Amino acid sequence: MLREFFRKLRTLYLGKEDLETVKRDLQRALLLADVDVATVREVSKKVEELFVEKISPGESRKMHVIRGIYSLLREILGEKRSFEFSRGKIVLLGLFGSGKTTTAVKLALWLKKRGKKVCVVTRDTERPAAREQLEDLASRVGVTYGEGCPVTIVDTPGGDALDEETLERMRGFAEEGDFVFLVIPADVGQYAGKMAEKLREVVDGIIITKMDGSAKGGGALAACKNAGVPVYFIGTGERPEDFQEFDPDSYLKRILGVPDLKEVAKEVKIPQEFTFREFYAQIREAKGRNLREMASMLGIPPSQIEEAEERFKKYDAIYKSMTEQERDHPEILNASRIRRIAKGSGTREEDVRAMIRDYKRAKKLMKMVKGRGLQRLLRRMGPW
Ligand code: GDP
Ligand code: MG
Repeated sequence: MLREFFRKLRTLYLGKEDLETVKRDLQRALLLADVDVATVREVSKKVEELFVEKISPGESRKMHVIRGIYSLLREILGEKRSFEFSRGKIVLLGLFGSGKTTTAVKLALWLKKRGKKVCVVTRDTERPAAREQLEDLASRVGVTYGEGCPVTIVDTPGGDALDEETLERMRGFAEEGDFVFLVIPADVGQYAGKMAEKLREVVDGIIITKMDGSAKGGGALAACKNAGVPVYFIGTGERPEDFQEFDPDSYLKRILGVPDLKEVAKEVKIPQEFTFREFYAQIREAKGRNLREMASMLGIPPSQIEEAEERFKKYDAIYKSMTEQERDHPEILNASRIRRIAKGSGTREEDVRAMIRDYKRAKKLMKMVKGRGLQRLLRRMGPW
């Protein structure tokens, strides 16, 4: 789920070593939301760029990645549209059970609240119950059934599937509309795109219903964006009031569980605990450099370089055997966890304890030097 993904994202250090985790988790969350594979792949590629591209001065890598991922998600949702309509007929098309009749009344109430005079009417003449349902729902919100209002919302009979016969019938109903909505339930996910494509020539916009009851809403929205047909409204419940204009920003903030990106930025600025993640990132950074050159610069005797290299290797294996929780909370590393990690990484318990000691030393030093850089840190840490 995207909410869990985003929550975890905020707890990560977001150095290069987190790229694979972030990519994998994001892919999983998007696929669960039924976003199509091509889009997921594209987003994934862009995430890779976020981890390596230049960042603007004053922004941390972490915030850069978070902001970047937010924008990528925002992009796949499409634009915000506002619906302006004062006179004429609005036709609702859609399959059986998609929520047309309910939506007719929701939209009527929405327009009524904005000062329009609205009636509802159905073209479903075969089933008396269709008219009864619409009349009944409309009367509950003070909307008249029939024609003769400046704005008329036209409900139509659905179909079981978008076969040629149903499509032809829908195109016929569309003809009387000054504005035609296709009503699609969120639970069809990416199939929403196919529906939109099939009716593109006669449809002006889409309403996605049942956003409250489906995890596939994101996929449906992304598919409509890809199909190039704008989503104007979403239905979020069975009541006539459960209806709103689709606003991609507020939708995204809601599903990510963040009130504002500014809040996230503030939270990121708070100095992080120096956990194993940060320690590991430093080791990786040191490993990437030419150790010998660095050692001579720092006045480390060559005899100790090999030892340091050996140690890097072991620490790398040890880190990889730790659970996420251990990386974030080194204080939980007790004897049995140390035993497990040593086994998993093919090292000795002593090595794990040595790494914990070095980590603690680095943590203390970090407090003293407050991010004054690796060289100084290394110089004080002895044989690194
Ligand atoms: P129609 O066959 O297209 O006219 O669909 P209806 O309007 O009769 O709706 C079918 C069912 O979906 C009804 O039980 C509605 O109450 C329900 N429904 C419609 N819109 C929503 C929505 O946004 N959320 C939820 N949870 N249920 C909805
Ligand atoms: Mg109906």
